[in-house]
Amino acid sequence: MADAKPLYDTYNRIPIVFERGHGMWLETPDGERYLDFAAGIAVNSLGHTHPHLVEALKAQADKLWHLSNLHEIPAQNRLAERLTEVTFADKVFFTNSGAEALECAIKTARRHFFVNGQPERYRIITFEGAFHGRTLATIAAGGQPKYLEGFGPTVEGFDQVPFGDFDAVKAAIRDDTAAILIEPVQGEGGVRPLENDTLRALRDLCDEHGMLMILDEVQSGVGRTGKLFAHEWAGIEPDIMAIAKGIGGGFPFGACLATAEAADGMTVGTHGTTYGGNPLAMAVGNAVLDVILEADFLAHVNDSALVLRQGLASLKDRYPDLISDVRGTGLILGIKCARSNADLVLAMRNEHLLAVPAGDNVVRLLPPLIVTAEEARDALSRIEAALEMLSLKGAAKEPDRIP
Ligand SMILES: *Cc1c(COP(=O)(O)O)cnc(C)c1O
Repeated sequence: MADAKPLYDTYNRIPIVFERGHGMWLETPDGERYLDFAAGIAVNSLGHTHPHLVEALKAQADKLWHLSNLHEIPAQNRLAERLTEVTFADKVFFTNSGAEALECAIKTARRHFFVNGQPERYRIITFEGAFHGRTLATIAAGGQPKYLEGFGPTVEGFDQVPFGDFDAVKAAIRDDTAAILIEPVQGEGGVRPLENDTLRALRDLCDEHGMLMILDEVQSGVGRTGKLFAHEWAGIEPDIMAIAKGIGGGFPFGACLATAEAADGMTVGTHGTTYGGNPLAMAVGNAVLDVILEADFLAHVNDSALVLRQGLASLKDRYPDLISDVRGTGLILGIKCARSNADLVLAMRNEHLLAVPAGDNVVRLLPPLIVTAEEARDALSRIEAALEMLSLKGAAKEPDRIP
């Protein structure tokens, strides 16, 4: 018999429908408000319906929606120029998603060695617990069995080592190793930040062996950690970097950034996309940068992050039976649960606060970067109420009004 539901069953959906959003808040059709510390999984970097983004999108919608990459797209050049000005990169390729930005990063690294007389050098070292997307190559790079199972032969060329294990990386290097690919802060894997020392050591190792360093900053980038990009905390620069999520502020797009040398194989005809760098996406991307590059913006992120971080530390002290660790950087914070993370996410939702579960039994807090100290304190009191409820009842139950 045919299943009555027309959508693929790939998602386990939350039984609440949101109709509109404003700033830090989401609202149901009957006007119930939820404080959004999920931000569409680190996507709504400037919150919902930010006036500057709405204006940019509407203005572009009146002018031109789409042009293929057979044409010059001035806003694409402008955004690429701005991104190269504020990063290590000389070159940018725009995509529609994070996974495609990673695909471009992987192809860029492999092509670099191909055009430099080492076509056999294509392997990439990746890390356990990593998440790089859901395309065939990026599930191979991520290496998580639950995402690989049943999808046929795993794309070849990825060697996985334990997260942050420098000696294991060293041991995994072969003559045909082209690159190391790593998230400076593992998001999906459970908000696990890499030590700055380790990131620096990996940079040195890449230089020693002539390997490229590829960073996946799809989740950690664009202000999320309190620097424009997370790797800046370690004072290093990658050769290639994938970004997405926050750069679109809710408009779906990503980008692969690279040095001119790393991108030297990506010549005319080697790669392409129909939609990547589309005028609507570029209008929004430029508008996101207008705000995030304002002089005080990142200082504000760090101020709010500190309030949140200190509040969480104090909750950990008061609820040691429920919270075993608080970790993360800036506004990507993880509460490692002593009991089930799903229970805490649900209990928080019952307090009208949205968060995201992650691996390693962690609850991820990813508020829009515009969050104020006051809103951070509001979230903390909701988390406290959720913890209180869990410690009293053992487990949260869905309230009756939610079917
Ligand atoms: C979300 C994410 C991706 C994949 O991005 P999509 O837009 O879902 O393809 C890749 N890497 C990291 C670190 C992510 O958080």
